[in-house]
Amino acid sequence: MNRSTWIAAFVLFSATVALSAGAQTVKVTPLGGIDGEFCPQDRALVFEDPNGTRILYDPGRTVAGGGDPRLGKIDIVLVSHMHGDHAGNAHNKAPNSGTCADPDMSVSAMPNSNAANIAIAKKSKIVTGSEMPPFFAAKLKANGGNPADSMLARFGGSVTVGGVRIATVTAMHSNGLDPDYIGGDLGKAMKDAGIAGDVGLPTGYVLRFSNGLVAYLSGDTGITADQELVVRNHYQAKLAVMNIGDGFTTGPAEAAYVINDLVRPASVIPSHANEVGTVGGKVRPGSKTEAFVKASKVPVHVPLSGKTMEFDAGGKCTAGC
Ligand SMILES: [Zn+2]
Repeated sequence: MNRSTWIAAFVLFSATVALSAGAQTVKVTPLGGIDGEFCPQDRALVFEDPNGTRILYDPGRTVAGGGDPRLGKIDIVLVSHMHGDHAGNAHNKAPNSGTCADPDMSVSAMPNSNAANIAIAKKSKIVTGSEMPPFFAAKLKANGGNPADSMLARFGGSVTVGGVRIATVTAMHSNGLDPDYIGGDLGKAMKDAGIAGDVGLPTGYVLRFSNGLVAYLSGDTGITADQELVVRNHYQAKLAVMNIGDGFTTGPAEAAYVINDLVRPASVIPSHANEVGTVGGKVRPGSKTEAFVKASKVPVHVPLSGKTMEFDAGGKCTAGC
């Protein structure tokens, strides 16, 4: 080949590499209460990196334990904080049991949590921040798992697992550990006194996937300055999963302010609506979900259970939205 042919070949090769990197997407699949809907207890999302690493975020009560056939391979479990609707104090008997308005939460996951049971069944790592790792290490150890699979990513630090960099960020909320996780005389005494266990602060997450996409998972939180200073200015998140339920966390108006003025991602997935958000897969008129969709200045992709959405490095939904 002469010089110009080499240059042409190199340009073609570079363009192909750039194109394939750009075409790589992160797949996000909600594992909610009812297929095709956005229901009150829905928190669980599976993120699949282009390299195949699969991450389950806040299994909560809608994942039917470690045997839920929707899970597939799970490499990493994330738990933003220990409240029952996130760690999973109870869960569905099977996917789609109960109704959207009246979810089935009949199977107790105490004293382990749904998150720990899933991690044991799937031999996954559990990555948490704050002071939650020793709690999960103890649950893994007590149930035949490997305590070293409970890994720490405390505020400001990060850990990389399966090519995905995982950091925790602040969440303005609470994180009391239900004494039923402790059990025995101590658990009973704490319960009688109305005192929860201390496993440190609640968290949100920032994930950086191998295609370059940075996602912010709010966890349960109010409005925090870190959403601008840390999540936007430092991590530059392009996709956000934002709680909109009100009462326990930001409501639709507060969540829209966080998205429009603080984080400013390219897309947002609402979560934790604590209501029937959709009927027949369409946003329910008069719902908090509708209020958030109207108030957000960036595209809102409502998480319909079982429906996979794909996001490119810039946070734009390229399929399934
Ligand atoms: Zn909570």
